[in-house]
Amino acid sequence: MATKSKRGYIKIETELCKGCYLCESVCPHDLIFVSDRLNQKGYYPAIYSEEGVGIEKHVCKGCALCAIVCPDIAIEVYRE
Ligand code: SF4
Ligand code: SF4
Repeated sequence: MATKSKRGYIKIETELCKGCYLCESVCPHDLIFVSDRLNQKGYYPAIYSEEGVGIEKHVCKGCALCAIVCPDIAIEVYRE
């Protein structure tokens, strides 16, 4: 039986982000970073990047940990 590997991605609404970085701290695949650009509220928002695509460690699995911990409901998780 073929096993289907879970794959996902997220979208961060950077204007809702207050820069607490809880999402960055919980992502088991190190896919969330701190932007070097301020949002309109004056925070450096979290951003999502899969720079290491192709390296299994850096692939989003859609686990939703980041969205669960976000106090501002700024993250949406999609699963493929
Ligand atoms: S958990 Fe939410 S508010 Fe905190 S840095 Fe991440 S996206 Fe921004
Ligand atoms: S859904 Fe999971 S793997 Fe994907 S960015 Fe969020 S915490 Fe990381």
